Amino acid sequence: MTLSSPLVPIKTPRDLRSLKKNWGNPSGLVPTMGALHEGHIQLIRHAASTAEEVIVSIFVNPTQFADNEDLESYPRNLASDIEMAQLAGATQIFVPNVKDLYPNGFSTYVVPCGPLVERWEGKSRPYLFRGVCTVVFKLFQIIQPTFAIFGQKDFQQLQVVRQMVSDLDLQVEIHAIPTVREEDGLAMSSRNTYLDSKERKAAPLLFQTLQQAVVIIQNDPKQNLEVLSQTLIRQLNSVPQIKIDYLGFVDAESLQPVSQFNGNVCLMVAAFVGKTRLIDNLLIQTK
Ligand code: AMP
Repeated sequence: MTLSSPLVPIKTPRDLRSLKKNWGNPSGLVPTMGALHEGHIQLIRHAASTAEEVIVSIFVNPTQFADNEDLESYPRNLASDIEMAQLAGATQIFVPNVKDLYPNGFSTYVVPCGPLVERWEGKSRPYLFRGVCTVVFKLFQIIQPTFAIFGQKDFQQLQVVRQMVSDLDLQVEIHAIPTVREEDGLAMSSRNTYLDSKERKAAPLLFQTLQQAVVIIQNDPKQNLEVLSQTLIRQLNSVPQIKIDYLGFVDAESLQPVSQFNGNVCLMVAAFVGKTRLIDNLLIQTK
């Protein structure tokens, strides 16, 4: 397929608001930080399958990064992102500058709190969900989409966004799509490009271990999941390239740790593979 005329990105909230009057309905928003890969493409395709207008936002959101994280080095490929997004069905691309979303004096944040954010990503990355909720709330305000799509790859983020939408009565539906993976099972991520060849070889062990856990639980649903998680952590930490940040079995709604399989469990993992921090998860549900 060839592109008729390349999309011209919309750069400011003001431009977006004035153009929006002529947009089709329903509209679907796909928020991204760019460096698009097949995971993002699946989100865009999903949006295009039901929406008249498909808005892809590309914004590396500084407020969700801590000082020691990879804001500066985060991969940025705007020209190819626009082309890929358009081929997948995007009809609008929103690429605001940091100053457009966070002008001088910016001081109002959406700060989620409570058990949903106290553990896992929220504990390891203290600014993450404040930054995500603030930027997603702003995107919802500016774009006012009928629905927005998120990946299950960032499972805690998905639940936190759902909670924000419910708590703040936001008029937007949240859709989710399953994690898109490389052939060897590694969850696609813009950060996979940081991996050297040895790290890239080791990285699929994360997903293989999640799959191994599913088999173990299917064979013995009554076993203690805290003990199993310790075994899996030891196993992964024995690989030289891998250092586990967390690995835990949680209730898939509340994200609180569970020690017994309750029919709706998510196994969540975050690990450094070399210096690159990767996350993955697998839902384990009774059929
Ligand atoms: P990011 O650009 O990494 O902030 O991701 C933007 C959106 O794409 C989020 O909703 C992610 O959960 C989703 N996403 C990222 N990687 C994947 C993947 N491998 N499969 C499905 N969705 C993904």
